[in-house]
Amino acid sequence: MGDATIPLIDLRHAALPARVPTEFAAPSGLLADRLGRPLRDLRISVTDRCNFRCSYCMPKEVFDSQYKFLPQSSLLSFEEISRTARLFAAHGVQKLRLTGGEPLLRKHLEVLIGMLSELRTPDGHPLDLTLTTNASLLTRKAQALKDAGLQRITISLDALDDAIFRRMNDVDFPVSDVLAGIEAAAKVGLAPIKVNMVVKQGVNDREIVPMARFFREHFGSAVVLRFIEYMDVGTTNGWAMDHVVPSAEVRLRLHEAFGLEPLDPNAVGETAERWRYTDGRGEVGFISSVTQAFCRDCNRARLSTEGRLYLCLFASRGFDLRELLRNGASDAEMAAAIGLIWSEREDRYSELRGQNAAPADSGARKVEMHYIGG
Ligand code: SAM
Ligand code: SF4
Ligand code: SF4
Repeated sequence: MGDATIPLIDLRHAALPARVPTEFAAPSGLLADRLGRPLRDLRISVTDRCNFRCSYCMPKEVFDSQYKFLPQSSLLSFEEISRTARLFAAHGVQKLRLTGGEPLLRKHLEVLIGMLSELRTPDGHPLDLTLTTNASLLTRKAQALKDAGLQRITISLDALDDAIFRRMNDVDFPVSDVLAGIEAAAKVGLAPIKVNMVVKQGVNDREIVPMARFFREHFGSAVVLRFIEYMDVGTTNGWAMDHVVPSAEVRLRLHEAFGLEPLDPNAVGETAERWRYTDGRGEVGFISSVTQAFCRDCNRARLSTEGRLYLCLFASRGFDLRELLRNGASDAEMAAAIGLIWSEREDRYSELRGQNAAPADSGARKVEMHYIGG
């Protein structure tokens, strides 16, 4: 849980320009942080709860029956989330990702998706609206999500081997049900589908080639499989460098098995490096935040379940937007606060980790992934 909060009430009075223009929307590209990075991507955690206990995210020993998740009253309401997202869109956000915890556990999520699908960028375009899920509830919900306006989906799956997967999710959930969820998503047109595999040395690294083979053969370019380096997020997963399989090694194994060639990025700030199979049977991605930091282009902000704004996945402090929301701040005041927070940002944790330079607040407790959203 993120315990350190930066209250924002003072910002309403102290730091605003004398007159906040009624048309407060920052023209796309205008707002930049201290390293010149624009704000383009907002990840919204809609619940801190999950029905899985992946050892790298919510280890069972910590997240047991005694663990206190957030009470309902702490959660941002759908109205609060969509109002906040609208103000982020005014500041240049073009992409919204719903996450958690397991986002499909949030009741009536399709209502929120409907509200978010109405939002527009300052030049009138709909936002790119997507969601990351463990797919455990997806066969039941895919159609409703699509109907509500969800465009695409990312599904997490760490192994095809049932025993390995059950061990990794640690709640004995079968692979077959996740595969059924992927089929359901493809059937209703939530495309393109991305599948995330976190690779952990000695746990599921032997699944790298079988996973690639399966998705190439069954889905071709309809599914992009992405290999994620196991990260030192939070403080509970017992991360160590020797648990990480560097993307370069994963890529080599795939190149030897199928042949790969690099692709250009789709957009600036994209987390995954893109490669395609030389025989044309689709593409794969590599998210290498440990061995090849991509902070320089990081344009992502994260809104926690209870409305704290985090500027980095490895942050230990969040800015309390809920306090503003629930204390009568106007849109202009909220927008000004968001702009101010972003313009002061200088986070680049992975880059500093790579240089063995301790990030500024490295003594503080980092926020957990299930709380801040992946
Ligand atoms: N519950 C949903 C899911 O698993 O897809 C969404 C939330 S989960 C926190 C988002 C993503 O973060 C998942 O793809 C998950 O595999 C990834 N993740 C969680 N902990 C991680 C870690 N320590 N290193 C790398 N990726 C991690
Ligand atoms: Fe749950 Fe996703 Fe974390 Fe696994 S990675 S424990 S599914 S929130
Ligand atoms: Fe962005 Fe922080 Fe990750 Fe760097 S470490 S890419 S700043 S979230």
